[in-house]
Amino acid sequence: MAVTTGSDRARATLAYLRRKITTGEWAVGSRIPIEPELAEQTGVGRSTVREAVRSLASIGMLETLPGRGTFVRSAAPTSTLLNEFLSDFTLEEILSYRRALEIEAAQQAALHRSDDDLAALEQAAEDEMGCTRCPVLGFAGGEDTAFDSKFHRLVFDAAKNRLLASLYAGINDQLRTPEHRGRLANVATATEMERDHARVLDAIRRRDFIDTVHAMVDHVDHDVVIVNDQHEVVPPLARTPEQQQRIDDAVEAGAQRGENVTAG
Ligand SMILES: [Zn+2]
Repeated sequence: MAVTTGSDRARATLAYLRRKITTGEWAVGSRIPIEPELAEQTGVGRSTVREAVRSLASIGMLETLPGRGTFVRSAAPTSTLLNEFLSDFTLEEILSYRRALEIEAAQQAALHRSDDDLAALEQAAEDEMGCTRCPVLGFAGGEDTAFDSKFHRLVFDAAKNRLLASLYAGINDQLRTPEHRGRLANVATATEMERDHARVLDAIRRRDFIDTVHAMVDHVDHDVVIVNDQHEVVPPLARTPEQQQRIDDAVEAGAQRGENVTAG
């Protein structure tokens, strides 16, 4: 890590450890390397490592058990306070807020992503290929990974905004509760999901935040949706066919730009 000042070192160490967790290299439930090893890996002092571990523990991602080591507890920041707060809101309100977070995070990711972020996103998009359902819905990986898509989490990581990431994790936690889960459905097929992720990824790669926003808007609106008692999809935003056509055109134009860039 090419860092100079003490606070740069602290920030880089924190980012290094967080990335190990968000990319899944350190799986939830696993024990992380001991302090001297981490100090050697990162090239910083043990006190800097300790500080970074403490900071990740304070947001629920790590837990240090005396005499046993430090364990990964969550792949994203968690807050019981936030969950209590969210329980007062309807599913419609929560999902609409989640939509806003996804779009903003995608935009920020296009602006702030590093080469490492991009590599991690590419890997995640590849890992999650062929899932019959978008892992955002969570059925692919079972109860524990519900609403836990590595790709989406890494978009938030690349956005470099801890508050966005924290709120997103809290909202996903809330969606896992039985009362909400039963009312949610995924309407994107595996092919659509892969195509959507590829478009978002491509726009982030080109640092084109306008294309990124269009691509993410299109994805979230047929990703996780609410179904009514008759199992009919409640559209997140009612659109006329003309309005949908304009969105499709914008996404298509973005994809076209991406192909031109790759070709040129
Ligand atoms: Zn997705």
